[in-house]
Amino acid sequence: MGRFAPSPSGPLHFGSLLAAVASYCDARAHNGRWLVRMEDIDQPRCVPGVDRLILDTLQRFGFERDGEVLYQSLPERQHTYATALSRLRHQGRLFYCTCSRRQIRPYPVYPGTCRKRRQPPRGEHATRVLVPDRIIAITDRIQDHFEQNLAQDCGDFIIFRKNGLYAYQLAVVVDDADQGITDIVRGIDILDSTPRQVFLQQCLGLPTPRYAHIPVIVDASGHKLSKQTFARDISNEDPPTLIRYALAALGQPSPPAGLPLSSLWQWAIAHWDISKIRGKDIPQPGSLAV
Ligand code: GLU
Ligand code: ZN
Repeated sequence: MGRFAPSPSGPLHFGSLLAAVASYCDARAHNGRWLVRMEDIDQPRCVPGVDRLILDTLQRFGFERDGEVLYQSLPERQHTYATALSRLRHQGRLFYCTCSRRQIRPYPVYPGTCRKRRQPPRGEHATRVLVPDRIIAITDRIQDHFEQNLAQDCGDFIIFRKNGLYAYQLAVVVDDADQGITDIVRGIDILDSTPRQVFLQQCLGLPTPRYAHIPVIVDASGHKLSKQTFARDISNEDPPTLIRYALAALGQPSPPAGLPLSSLWQWAIAHWDISKIRGKDIPQPGSLAV
């Protein structure tokens, strides 16, 4: 079971299309299902209507998703995140942090200032999870071995934010488990979060899926394309052309010319080979220059 989990903070760009194409082909090539989850946990960053736009774009590009789209903002999901949070609390893993950004910023990792505060204070505070001083390693299908020692590389991280929102790290772990996701294929920008997610899976007794982190597309000067760096909205682009670019960027063989969308997908899935994707970044195809 695979998934694509866009955040509706902006329309899809070529980088998000790569994650969509790779996760879709990988799931379908294994006769698996492919779910779409709208990661709208960070409500202040979500733009109204962008979820619809993303779903319309996926449909226009010929992606066939299984099941309904899961929205993290649904009250039912919030309850589930609350249950996970209280499990962590009962395990004695949480503490309450009142540090300002300025107090934390000089340190490479959170210095543990509030570790002793086990009761929530009255004022504004974030909830952090205590991390272990041990290696957490994953074997990524593309990036091979990746490990972090959370105590040294990351520090106690936020699980429930000052603004009353659940942290992405918690939501994604709970959602992937609830949706039965066995294979996560996503951008390498999230590789760094994966050990935190694996740690939370271990705490919550959830299975760890297989991971494949695809390289990020970079522009001519080596900067990654992201919504923030004006990556072009692909909503109105020609689907077969962009799917071909995406397959090429993912190291896949080129489909024969002139295939209609549905045959293009069939061909791409039949020839899908994730082992052809290597490395950490791929140059942007010239014709997509912003
Ligand atoms: N919502 C994240 C993004 O749009 C993806 C998270 C994931 O795939 O785990 O970058
Ligand atoms: Zn603190």
